[in-house]
Amino acid sequence: MNGGVLFTGISELRTPELVVSDAVLAVEGGALAWLGSAGELPEPYCSWPRRDLQGNAVLPGLVDSHTHLIWAGSRIEEYGRRSRGDSYENILAAGGGIHATVAATQAASEEELLLAALTRARALLQDGVTTLEVKSGYGLTIEHELKMLQVARRLAESQPQRIVPTLLAHVVPRDTPRQTYVEMFTSELIPEVRRQGLAEAVDVFSDEGAFSLGETRTILEAALRHDLAIKLHAEQIAPTGAARLAAEMGALSADHLEQSSRDDWAELVSAGTVATILPGAAVVLRKPFPDARAMWDAGAKVAVATDHNPGSSPLYSLTLALQLAISLGGLSVDEALVAGTRNAADALRRPDLGRLEVASAADFLVVDGKDSLLPLYAWGARTIRSVYIGGVKVMSVDDDRTWPGFDRASDAGGRH
Ligand SMILES: [Zn+2]
Repeated sequence: MNGGVLFTGISELRTPELVVSDAVLAVEGGALAWLGSAGELPEPYCSWPRRDLQGNAVLPGLVDSHTHLIWAGSRIEEYGRRSRGDSYENILAAGGGIHATVAATQAASEEELLLAALTRARALLQDGVTTLEVKSGYGLTIEHELKMLQVARRLAESQPQRIVPTLLAHVVPRDTPRQTYVEMFTSELIPEVRRQGLAEAVDVFSDEGAFSLGETRTILEAALRHDLAIKLHAEQIAPTGAARLAAEMGALSADHLEQSSRDDWAELVSAGTVATILPGAAVVLRKPFPDARAMWDAGAKVAVATDHNPGSSPLYSLTLALQLAISLGGLSVDEALVAGTRNAADALRRPDLGRLEVASAADFLVVDGKDSLLPLYAWGARTIRSVYIGGVKVMSVDDDRTWPGFDRASDAGGRH
């Protein structure tokens, strides 16, 4: 951007903790130079060119800190079978479940995977997601895990959202001895991923039926030796001690936590590890919903993510995940917004994202109406009018809709 720009006409700005009425944002070089109420705009900014946001509200760009966005094939038939009560174990034994996604992802070209991931990323963008984490984990061999992370890199280069790539130890392939696989993962795959700069973190699915606590520790130690951050899928299926391991080893986040306990939360709090809940998986699998309210009250830094994946969470909307965290997890509406912005950015070690403050990235959403919490209230509605990343408009509802704005009746200054 050449010089600074002022965004004016903001009915209500959420940072997300603070609320400012009749606000102005000053953006320069992709970051926020100043923000506050219009009446307090410092003199040096007054001559900057202005963009009038026409009485709409502004929020920080949403951050989806846990997705499996890159995959091929279809699990829609399995979705139907599970809806009729068939067990995941049966489906898995018949070669379905994750093994079906692995086979299809291995068979797909980079171009096919990229095209499918672009469509999913676009849906998240329209829902207000400006940053998303993308995991590998459906390749399983060195060749195909690297292919997935190459696709993540190309995804970052071919659309405007910020992509944070993670190498995931998902499951042991059916034809490989466990120890051989862990050895390959730690002594070949992690060093190669590091050498090519293809991931910022390593994640392990540590649970009953996935990696044991001992295997998880071995993989995470290798990640730390190679200066990669660590994360864990923890306590989803059974209480295993994985959340405490995450805290002990200084993980950025422990994700899922359906089976976690108060003792686990205390460890996460003292380690500063983000507690990420994944409403899509709990609801789709018909499991008890993680107690986000109790975690928050215990002092945990709670984040909410989509866990987008073809099996347990075919979820294309972070706002829907946040709405579920409100209705089923007991978070207040403003807490849910913090969970989907600031806390989620902290789970990705990006303290410049998920918040609107001086020097943070100018990633923000213009809500289609004057109430900033409308996106967490209006279930299933398209409530984001436009999306800015680094101060640049990257999505506008005006470009791809022919219908009038949402709830514009109350906004006398609106164009519709
Ligand atoms: Zn996951």
